[in-house]
Amino acid sequence: MRRNRRVKIVATLGPSSAEKETIQRLFDAGADVFRINMSHSSHERLTELVRIIRKVEADAGRPIGILVDLQGPKLRVGEFADNSARLKEGEAFHLDQNEEPGNSQRVYLPHPEIFEAVEPGHPLILDDGKLRLIVRETTPDIITTEVVVGGPLASRKGISLPATVLPFGAMTNKDRRDLEQAVNLGADWIGLSFVQRGDDVAEARKLSRGRVAIMTKVEKPAAIEQLDAIVELSDGLMVARGDLGVEMPLEQVPGLQKRITRACRSAGKPVVIATQMLESMITAPVPTRAEVSDVATAVFDGADAVMLSAESAAGEFPVEAVSTMDRIATEVEQDASYEALVRNQELEPEATGADAISAAARTIAETLNLAVIVCYTGSGSTGLRAARERPRQPIVALTPIAATGRRLAMAWGLHCVLTNDAEDLDEMVDKACRISYQEGFAQPGQRIIISAGVPLGTPGATNMLRVAFVGENETGNL
Ligand code: PGA
Ligand code: MN
Repeated sequence: MRRNRRVKIVATLGPSSAEKETIQRLFDAGADVFRINMSHSSHERLTELVRIIRKVEADAGRPIGILVDLQGPKLRVGEFADNSARLKEGEAFHLDQNEEPGNSQRVYLPHPEIFEAVEPGHPLILDDGKLRLIVRETTPDIITTEVVVGGPLASRKGISLPATVLPFGAMTNKDRRDLEQAVNLGADWIGLSFVQRGDDVAEARKLSRGRVAIMTKVEKPAAIEQLDAIVELSDGLMVARGDLGVEMPLEQVPGLQKRITRACRSAGKPVVIATQMLESMITAPVPTRAEVSDVATAVFDGADAVMLSAESAAGEFPVEAVSTMDRIATEVEQDASYEALVRNQELEPEATGADAISAAARTIAETLNLAVIVCYTGSGSTGLRAARERPRQPIVALTPIAATGRRLAMAWGLHCVLTNDAEDLDEMVDKACRISYQEGFAQPGQRIIISAGVPLGTPGATNMLRVAFVGENETGNL
């Protein structure tokens, strides 16, 4: 089974996609990575979802990535009696320390720190900017606000306080527990929310001890200011446009998206474009023209992945959302202007064997019009360097390590296959040819290019390039 596109699709799981059957359909429709949002999932739910995803993975025989997204110090309102309430413009709305379900006049705010820090005149922004309140009065346990922009507000929606200085660290105790649980369950990526500085990433890395890849969500102005350090310390970045567009002026988000994408591509680290990509598909089976254009822009920019949030987690058309994204990406990648646009960022190889060989592999593959670039990769780093070249040819990454294949499910253009390392050069070539054929990337008579570090299994030693013919014997006696 192979996908006909290079960009990957991340689909968030939630109430609309909780069953095995739906998750299977999301995978079949094109989801390469599943995201589990710890803002809305219990440990039992997380365990169950990981179990289901691994079952789908085993049935498909293809590595699937799991991204466990930590809530971070995100502030949320409590629950409403009917799961939501309508806040009316001009009316008073209270946030208090009473745990009872809320209504259109009040709701529980489970963050005592806010009551101490907030002052009259401060704006409170709810649900990614959809609602806006202004603080009129505060007491130690009730904040009285006036609704400036009203509308429906669902349980546990986010609340931001752009004008209020709050004393928060990088990870909450819940995040630490969730990270440990996720790592124990074999998650491939951890999403770190509301990162402000490099130290926040370093802390997560210390806790995870290399057992999981770290995706930093860029959603705070401070993270933008330290972008280079954050790219350096992270394994990947997410352009988390929801909170980014609340914390920063909305009109700056497109430029920031380009900047973050370029920084990640230059570093050879996966970058995911997230939030509201097909927002209208939460309630409609077709997207808006503007949404199609938004997904297309991310694909033309050469992002590694595009992400669905509520569309697949809580919407009415989760499978259609994935297949729509798949269709847009496939079409864009075949567009006449795609290659020039993806390549418009000139990237010099770094002075390493892996980069020199990846760049040479791309040039040779393009000059000789080869069928596919095959790379042997243990840790995944050679795979990422090959993807950084954004070659015209498909890339098949062969790895003996399941966790590597799953992690690379997030990366542009990599079709990973789990296979034991070859014993010698002949076997390495045979195996590359056979798998290229079996996976649908090369036909008998076509040529492929293989990169590897010989002897296999030595990390960081990519030192070999070999052009090989796919012979008739590759197709027989499989
Ligand atoms: P969230 O992150 O969905 O966890 O808030 C994504 C975003 O802020 O865009
Ligand atoms: Mn966010």
